Amino acid sequence: MGNTANPMTLVLATHNRGKCREISQVLKDLPIRLLSTADFKNCPKSEEPFETYLENARDKARLVSKHTGHWVLADDSGLEVKALGGAPGVKSARYAGEEVSYLDNNEKILTNLKSIQGKDRAATFISLMLLLSPQGEEWLSVGKLEGEIALEAKGDHGFGYDPIFYLPNQKKHLAELSLEEKNLISHRRQALEGIKKHLVKILETTPLFFSANK
Ligand code: IMP
Repeated sequence: MGNTANPMTLVLATHNRGKCREISQVLKDLPIRLLSTADFKNCPKSEEPFETYLENARDKARLVSKHTGHWVLADDSGLEVKALGGAPGVKSARYAGEEVSYLDNNEKILTNLKSIQGKDRAATFISLMLLLSPQGEEWLSVGKLEGEIALEAKGDHGFGYDPIFYLPNQKKHLAELSLEEKNLISHRRQALEGIKKHLVKILETTPLFFSANK
């Protein structure tokens, strides 16, 4: 594998600090230099105009790749609630409107589910990860986390919908788990495991990274 003298540079195509923290923790043992869009001046941001996680992830990754010239990792994720027909899904960041807070989004879900009980409060987090090489090759990986929408918010960790996402097995809200605990089970972790396998292979077989280790 490459070493720190000549590491692969990988840019996370996200402005979301919660995602950055989680991804960095999972990839920390790989010999790569991990950057985010915040490390580049005027890095473009996707408007996420598409109806699928794949198209949005691809748009995010391509914009950042064009701007930086580096390897890029994009995550497009969302919460799918059974009683809401899969909403908010790809529109999870903007469920209560443009430029809204996590609190606004959580309150809208809780309000919309007021009359819903039991199994219909089932919900799934989805994460689609797309790794893009500077030459335009893509690798994809998807992760899921099943749970249900709680009756109220609880917990201070994580981000987004974590306070209202209940894990029946753990009898805890996702926001009650530490970063490390969430990273053992999350949709993002599962998607990252797939990407990590590709990264390890790429690091082992790319002459630039490989020869740096000799
Ligand atoms: P996007 O991937 O930029 O479209 O944003 C995904 C949105 O889905 C976030 O802004 C959150 O609202 C929600 N989301 C995705 N993953 C998580 C998670 O791990 N916890 C809580 N909310 C999440």
